[in-house]
Amino acid sequence: MEKVVLSKLSLEELIDYIESIGEKKFRAQQIFSWIWAKNAKNFNNMTDVKKEFREFLEKNCLILDCKIKTRQISIDGTIKYLIEYKDGLCAEAVLMRFDNRSNLSMCVSCQVGCKMGCKFCATGKNGFKRNLSAYEIVSQILLCQIDTGLKITNVVFMGQGEPLDNFDNIKKAIYLINKNLQISIRRMTLSTSGIIPKINELADCELKPTLAISLHAPNHKIREQIMPIEKKFDIENLKKALKNYNDKTKDRITIEYILIGGLNDTKACALELVEFLKDLKCNINLIPYNSTDNDTYKKPTKKDLRFFKYILESSGKKVTIRLERGADIDAACGQLAGKVDLS
Ligand code: SF4
Repeated sequence: MEKVVLSKLSLEELIDYIESIGEKKFRAQQIFSWIWAKNAKNFNNMTDVKKEFREFLEKNCLILDCKIKTRQISIDGTIKYLIEYKDGLCAEAVLMRFDNRSNLSMCVSCQVGCKMGCKFCATGKNGFKRNLSAYEIVSQILLCQIDTGLKITNVVFMGQGEPLDNFDNIKKAIYLINKNLQISIRRMTLSTSGIIPKINELADCELKPTLAISLHAPNHKIREQIMPIEKKFDIENLKKALKNYNDKTKDRITIEYILIGGLNDTKACALELVEFLKDLKCNINLIPYNSTDNDTYKKPTKKDLRFFKYILESSGKKVTIRLERGADIDAACGQLAGKVDLS
């Protein structure tokens, strides 16, 4: 008989299951807390559960039905996990700790591969295999907590895949992360390449994460060269959706901008970007492009990066340069799935 995967059950479903096998309701609460709050690696860790019942659970249940296939640790402490699901497909998740902060951020994947085909992105080059279920998305965080014994404080939907192309599962995952892992919605960020109808739908959701937009260009001409989505959802209409999101949520949006040497890092681009963003409530996150093997794109020079930032800051926007985390293990932005076989 197939084992029951306990982390797939809500507390109510777990109570039903526990009662159906003749145990008391409070056992469900104990097990739920061991799984979601106390990072139990196995049933033996559940020390306040009586031994005979732990043996029953061992025989008939699993905590999770996916596993860590590989784990790479960067010199800066970033950990990149390759998670293997039941059907043998894999997705990557990255744990990052930033200096001087106690926050532990987990960057999760929402699809195996991606359909969007952004030219600068390693995942985009591998094509699309399938969506991840809400359970599979949340499992990435749970597995990492179990592996490290640490509590994840922030979640970013910025790994492999386009979250708004798997929107129903993302909405459920956000709910589970909030309810079961007790991570506030204020500590979740969702990054999209710009699927306009879904951005509008997200603006009307009850649980709204911080929205990050992969803009990466100040105009249609450059954006369509590097992001095929621009052909369907162009930058001018994207701006309307972002304004709508600003108006409905009153929150600042994060604008992500990968600076690619010689392509979108010029003074003219910076000035055009200032003009494009002037009516939006937003912060800007500049991401120096990470070169991968056999690359057609270049890193920006330090001088161009500084000047680009200076022009944006002069317009009154808050601008940060994203710290490069895990570059030595290909866990930096745009490098996920660059060197692993996802099947
Ligand atoms: S940048 Fe994001 S949306 Fe674009 S191909 Fe990569 S994973 Fe997909």
